Amino acid sequence: MNSKVPAQRMQELIALLTKYNREYYELDEPSVPDAEYDRLFRELQQLESDFPELATAESPTQKVGSQALAEFQQVRHEMPMLSLDNAFELEEFQSFTTRVAERLDRQDAIAYCCEPKLDGAAVSILYEAGKLVQAATRGDGQTGEDITENVKTIRNLPLQLSGDFPERVEVRGEVFMPVQAFEKYNAQALERGDKVFANPRNAAAGSLRQLDSRISAQRPLHFYAYSMGVVSNNVELATSHFGRLQQLESWGLPISAEVRRVDDAAGCQDYYNDILARRADLRYEIDGVVIKVDSIALQQDLGFVSRAPRWAIAWKFPAQEELTVIRGVDFQV
Ligand code: NAD
Repeated sequence: MNSKVPAQRMQELIALLTKYNREYYELDEPSVPDAEYDRLFRELQQLESDFPELATAESPTQKVGSQALAEFQQVRHEMPMLSLDNAFELEEFQSFTTRVAERLDRQDAIAYCCEPKLDGAAVSILYEAGKLVQAATRGDGQTGEDITENVKTIRNLPLQLSGDFPERVEVRGEVFMPVQAFEKYNAQALERGDKVFANPRNAAAGSLRQLDSRISAQRPLHFYAYSMGVVSNNVELATSHFGRLQQLESWGLPISAEVRRVDDAAGCQDYYNDILARRADLRYEIDGVVIKVDSIALQQDLGFVSRAPRWAIAWKFPAQEELTVIRGVDFQV
């Protein structure tokens, strides 16, 4: 096949996805629905796999998020903050569990930790001697924005850890705006004649990246922890991901009540179906579930590819809604 046509299409897709990344990550103002972005992303991935000689390291498929904004102090992550691979169909999820079993050369059941995929913004929060000392956005995965003062205003997040915590621990999790709080905030903003947010994700990301922390403090933000980054070795850590989440909770950090450990891949499917059925009743918006190999030793055996771990997958729900458009109203950025 003449490679000019795919090469041209790949260039087009790279340009489009780069534009959408900027709108979504830097401006908090997407112009296309996530489902459309995901479709183009997949098309590019497929072309890169069919024509590896045309693939480049500069492609959005090889990168995480977007560069940190220059208005903020920059924070270099001690461990990169990655993205997640996606599954959109049951077959894709099954290919993931098959790949995991094959890579680990395991015929017996592998346990997984299942979590809701919160639709907000990823943050890294550093505690030293139990005290919250720094918080940063994911940025491009290597360097994020310093949002310490803004994160300190999140009400369900402790400024001081309790219990038997490590001397130094980096907590990773999602900052989000619960749906009811989002609707109330927008209704009040409309009454005041202020800008409203397009959806809870943009609300969370936009509220976090304020230069004046007094503005963030007025926003109804919440936090759930979902992993640890760097941790000092004065406390023995659990050997499973689920166990580590329990440890985070014992130090006072909030964890989603929907986290479950299951014995095998079939358990993950039951979890997906259960959360999908209850999606509308949850307090917060989710766009799927995240399935992680539960054993930390097995996670280490599986390792990472350029932008995502091999031991986890985001199993997305069917696209729920197109981009929210409120006519005649400016969106908050
Ligand atoms: P992602 O959202 O698919 O997955 C990674 C992120 O999931 C993590 O960074 C973390 O913030 C989050 N997460 C939530 N719950 C988690 C949990 N329990 N455990 C671990 N992580 C959890 O990847 P991404 O790189 O942040 O974003 C890519 C997605 O963003 C795309 O698939 C697309 O849907 C959307 N996007 C949309 C546009 C647009 O223009 N509409 C542009 C860029 C990206």
